[in-house]
Amino acid sequence: HSKRKFTNDVNQTDTRTIQDNIKSENIKNYLRIFSKEPHLSGSDANKKVAYVIANAWMEAGLEDVHMLPYEVLLSYPDFENPNSVVIQNSDGEEAFRSKGVSPVIIPDEQSGKYAGHQWLAYAGNGTVSAEIVYINHGTADDFENLKLMGVDVKDKIALMRYGHGFRGDKVYKAQQAGAVGAILFSDPWDVAQDGVDSDHVYPKTIWMPNESVQRGSLMHGHGDPLSPYYPSKIELFKGKTIKEAYDDGTLPSIPVLPVSYTTALQLMKRISGLDAPFDWQGSVGGNLTYKLGPGFGNGEKLTINVHSELKTKRIQNVIGYIRGSEEPDRYVMLGNHFDAWVYGSVDPNSGTAALAEVARAMMQTINETHWRPARTIVFNAWDAEEFGLIGSTEFVEEFVDILQKRAVVYINMDCIQGNSSLHVETVPTLEHVAIEAAKRVPNPSKEEKSSGRATVYDTWMNVFPDKEVGHPKIRVPGGGSDHAPFLNFAGVPVVNFKYKNYTAYSTYPLYHTMYETPFTNIHLMDTDDLAVHRAIGQYWAELAVMFADKTILPVNTTNLASVMIKSYLPQLKTSILEMNVSRIDLDSILEQYALLSNSAQDLLKEAIRFQDTRQYHDTNHVRAVNERLISCERCFINPRGVSKHNPSARHVMFSVSDSDAYSNSLFAGIQNAMDSYEISPSTSNLREVINQISIVQYSVICVINTLKDAI
Ligand code: GLU
Ligand code: ZN
Ligand code: ZN
Repeated sequence: HSKRKFTNDVNQTDTRTIQDNIKSENIKNYLRIFSKEPHLSGSDANKKVAYVIANAWMEAGLEDVHMLPYEVLLSYPDFENPNSVVIQNSDGEEAFRSKGVSPVIIPDEQSGKYAGHQWLAYAGNGTVSAEIVYINHGTADDFENLKLMGVDVKDKIALMRYGHGFRGDKVYKAQQAGAVGAILFSDPWDVAQDGVDSDHVYPKTIWMPNESVQRGSLMHGHGDPLSPYYPSKIELFKGKTIKEAYDDGTLPSIPVLPVSYTTALQLMKRISGLDAPFDWQGSVGGNLTYKLGPGFGNGEKLTINVHSELKTKRIQNVIGYIRGSEEPDRYVMLGNHFDAWVYGSVDPNSGTAALAEVARAMMQTINETHWRPARTIVFNAWDAEEFGLIGSTEFVEEFVDILQKRAVVYINMDCIQGNSSLHVETVPTLEHVAIEAAKRVPNPSKEEKSSGRATVYDTWMNVFPDKEVGHPKIRVPGGGSDHAPFLNFAGVPVVNFKYKNYTAYSTYPLYHTMYETPFTNIHLMDTDDLAVHRAIGQYWAELAVMFADKTILPVNTTNLASVMIKSYLPQLKTSILEMNVSRIDLDSILEQYALLSNSAQDLLKEAIRFQDTRQYHDTNHVRAVNERLISCERCFINPRGVSKHNPSARHVMFSVSDSDAYSNSLFAGIQNAMDSYEISPSTSNLREVINQISIVQYSVICVINTLKDAI
């Protein structure tokens, strides 16, 4: 092992060598083997992928590569019997029946059995006949507006389009509104923006072709539905029953299926009733006007047939590491999931392939130079992410104490979503290091380079600028991938990054389709040399080394204090002032708010003072300083949680939103208490608002105390 002591910071020569060692050719090979077969979590094919990853990591030289198994509740369709939408005329004759299977377009890559099967995990099982209503994206506002327009969802089949939030939350809201079934579709407005004819869609372009669907999970919540708070290990008891999971809405009980825009047209052209509002219109059927329903105008009847079954399965995460030379018990964690809806060559194996190459290139660097990371770098490949972040959530539940003591950071990369620019989500303490790392990665785009943008940072700043702060827009992540349990449940700071295009649509058109095969990575999303995939690997490695090798951890508490003061607290104040509340109650809420505000100012002072004492003298001092920096984020974990509905939401400042699992809600505990107060302005509800503000303040004081030398 290297004898490097904490005398200098990240050695640029080391990271340059790692970056140079990351080779596109290797990423391409990994990509091809990881995404060869459909590898749904719980399937034999996915087990095989776990072993292929483990082998690749072992071959690269990672230490102690092993599996971490959990027994969890997954969901499957009947692969022999596809789901269908059936329309019958008044004589009972079939006017339309959807196939429920997408066609093979590139036979070399897509001929795996059942690849085209269209379904949604955890959908209710059964057949339902009912009138249809159209509810736009199925957001809370959409349901509200539909009600205002006089259309009732009760006992209807809810037709909703993808986009603007997590699909499981759309279905949750539909079921709450009394829907007996639901249909989700991708609107060409989002996914086939140049038109649906064959010249303008896959495989000629990245846009979604006819008869294609987005698959996905409908679980409301994260982790194994039957083991909240605890890991689903075979020897442990499961705290929840399936019936309880249905009763509390974790699992939907209504049948739900995804349909292509081709099938959506058959529905849309028959729906009667009022014209849908202007911003609910889309381009299924070109200029066809979307209507709200209920029902079809011509007496035809709609039936949906959904075959869905719950099964307990063994999943397995893969873990391996490079032991740090100085602080082997400090973990810099890198992760990506490997399970996929079908071939998953974009989601998630663009990331799996890049991560395997990062591991290999780091080991090559260790073997060829004097470099070894000072802290331990942990590689994680998660299973069952697609079903609801299950592998990562069970892992965090199992190791929460150890992670809270030893984890420095968790860096997640799920998949590339486009080729325009780097896009980073992180917490305020890590913004500056996310930026610094981006400045050290060469731009993968030749055009960008020749326009004078030499690094991925330059393009990032150009595509996603935040003019006010003078650096790229960086938000705190919501859910949507495996970083969520680390931040929300354990209070481990996270970085979640990807490459993406500048577009209003929140993902890429071929997301969760059977067309995510290597052809798509190589010819449509990246170039033949996989330059973007390579840059992803280089950024991952660069970040990892900064956390592993910087003498003082790059955790910026001063920025945390100033973001609170400049942005979070003013937002909180605005929502307090917007409350429908009596003068006297408002005053008592504002009084506590003022105290919180003072604590944030105190934090700023303490953080600045602490920064000045960071000059290191010896290893003990360095260790003490770093231990405090590691502990800061943990202060925001409230063990009692911040949401009645989501047991894994425990971060008082950043938590996954209750109404959309993809987004983050700031001060969720306070917001929830304010909502309850507005519904019922009782004294105890008022006290709870003040109490929740005080809990945030308590967390801020915890950070101040953490930074100090003595209590
Ligand atoms: N990444 C998966 C999806 O977007 C799972 C997200 C979740 O369950 O929250 O469908
Ligand atoms: Zn993914
Ligand atoms: Zn996914």
